[in-house]
Amino acid sequence: MNSAVAKSNRPYLLLTPGPLTTSDTVKEAMLRDWCTWDNDYNSLVQSIRSRLVHLATNTPELYTAVLMQGSGTFCVESVIGSVIPRSGKLLVLTNGAYGNRVAQMARVYRIDTSVLDFGETDQVHPADVEQRLQEETDITHVAIVHCETTTGMLNPIAEVAAIAKAHGKTVIVDAMSSFGGIPIDVHELQIDYLISSANKCIQGVPGFGFIIARTEALAGCEGQARSLSLDLYDQWSAMEKGNGKWRFTSPTHVVRAFDQALRELEQEGGIDARYKRYKANQELLVNGMRSLGFCSLIKSNVQSPFITAFYYPQSIAFSFNELYARLKAAGFVIYPGKISAADTFRIGNIGEVYREDIANLLQIIEDECFW
Ligand SMILES: *Cc1c(COP(=O)(O)O)cnc(C)c1O
Repeated sequence: MNSAVAKSNRPYLLLTPGPLTTSDTVKEAMLRDWCTWDNDYNSLVQSIRSRLVHLATNTPELYTAVLMQGSGTFCVESVIGSVIPRSGKLLVLTNGAYGNRVAQMARVYRIDTSVLDFGETDQVHPADVEQRLQEETDITHVAIVHCETTTGMLNPIAEVAAIAKAHGKTVIVDAMSSFGGIPIDVHELQIDYLISSANKCIQGVPGFGFIIARTEALAGCEGQARSLSLDLYDQWSAMEKGNGKWRFTSPTHVVRAFDQALRELEQEGGIDARYKRYKANQELLVNGMRSLGFCSLIKSNVQSPFITAFYYPQSIAFSFNELYARLKAAGFVIYPGKISAADTFRIGNIGEVYREDIANLLQIIEDECFW
């Protein structure tokens, strides 16, 4: 039904962690201009904010959603720059490029920061977090990446948030590449701020991201921001007071596409159904790749259902660029690796991607075995 390659406006299927392949109907939703201060548009924004909160928790009355212009990084930066007071101290848990980026933001803003680095292929260890919080009692905030897209690793956010909360800390989760694709309840998990973007598991197009915030926590952040345009509190307060107004020009077409993407998530059966599809895609992919001789970088018990990293095969005849070019010609775009310790490449399986697409990909890789 959804053989994406066959569609004329899709020269290739994106097997990347976002921007990803979106449906034709999501793209078509952008074929209309919207006024940013008209009630039609503002009520759409309010509806999106409310639907996001309901996707994030069964206790929606304690949470709010803020939409923020820019890519996902801008949204992470708006949280890091706005919610930590001058007297605060941030603990960053990292096992990849996105955790490192959070630490880098904190340095740019001259926020007092402690980093706990688990390397590139190990999960965040909750016991080490406990120890660091006992050692450095002046830490006020803890940041963790849910799915570290660098490797496809899932981190134990429930355990880490429970430890952080037992110490009275504020919990920040970069759930960029996981939210919408795996069940998460921010209230049950005791997450204060969860960040994601339009162009990942919700399957919209790039242009803005969003922050699900515990309202009481965000309400205390007035005047703390280290940036004007990325002031999370001000963005929230303007949206609340203006019933869906953004402070500065918003990506209207992208917001319209996102509304359509949310409808399609609902039509699919919600996050549980999407999670099942992604998981089935990923299992088919990894099993198929293994039977073709490819080893995955991380263990299956820590592997996310979104993106998988594979080692280059041992053969010296293997060239990633060659594989990339051949797959692109056949209608699939894959992703280079991002870790320093080993030669890897990555294949994503989120977006409008179905089992038959993965099966086709595996067949082509088998046919193209040139190494
Ligand atoms: C995609 C992603 C981001 C944001 O990246 P942008 O390029 O700014 O959209 C942040 N964190 C994680 C874990 C991601 O996967």
